[in-house]
Amino acid sequence: MRITPVGDDQRRIVVSHEDITKHKRAQEALLRLAHTDPLTGVANRRRFFELAHHEFERAVRYKSALTVLMADIDHFKAINDCYGHAAGDVVLRSFVGVAGEALRGPDLVGRLGGEEFAVLLPHTTLGGGHALAQRIVERVAALQVATCVGLVCYTVSVGVSTLDDRIASFDDLLRAADDALYRAKGAGRNTVSSAFGEFC
Ligand code: GH3
Ligand code: MG
Ligand code: MG
Repeated sequence: MRITPVGDDQRRIVVSHEDITKHKRAQEALLRLAHTDPLTGVANRRRFFELAHHEFERAVRYKSALTVLMADIDHFKAINDCYGHAAGDVVLRSFVGVAGEALRGPDLVGRLGGEEFAVLLPHTTLGGGHALAQRIVERVAALQVATCVGLVCYTVSVGVSTLDDRIASFDDLLRAADDALYRAKGAGRNTVSSAFGEFC
């Protein structure tokens, strides 16, 4: 709505209005595109970090639990090499489907790059996060993904870390999950490892 005074005495005005619904919807659609990974539909790296930093500050302020998972599909390069890039893409989407089914409303999945995903779990302890990661690993291992070249099986490794007094920033939290993921890979893949050696 636009209000324009007419003349000098400020007593007469012209009011005009314009329906900007379409414009707003277009703006929202653009923003959604800018925040979303086009292949899998989850938050892209930039959006994940934006929301995760915000959630980290909130968890510190209210002293609430916050856990993060770092998940990386095992031998994904071999999946691409054996079955082709298009089948690899279907595998990536299937992982997001499995993770999504295991999560609750406030949880957030982000694709950090390639075949690497992070999951932010507000109000969740290390034990809760580890159990959830274990469920995801088991469900993925039991899956047969239908692709254009037939059924594909794959596995995933997950590292888990939680907010405690050893963690000063969200980057520390993610780094601890990444270190744990590295240990899960070293332990033979298709498994979960927790930060600082807790829960294995
Ligand atoms: P590891 O078990 O140690 O994780 O080995 P890896 O083969 O999964 O890891 P590596 O980093 O060697 O390979 C990742 C591959 O992911 C290489 C890259 O071509 C592929 N990739 C990255 N982005 C995409 C994508 O969007 N679609 C597909 N199909 N492949 C992708
Ligand atoms: Mg991998
Ligand atoms: Mg990787």
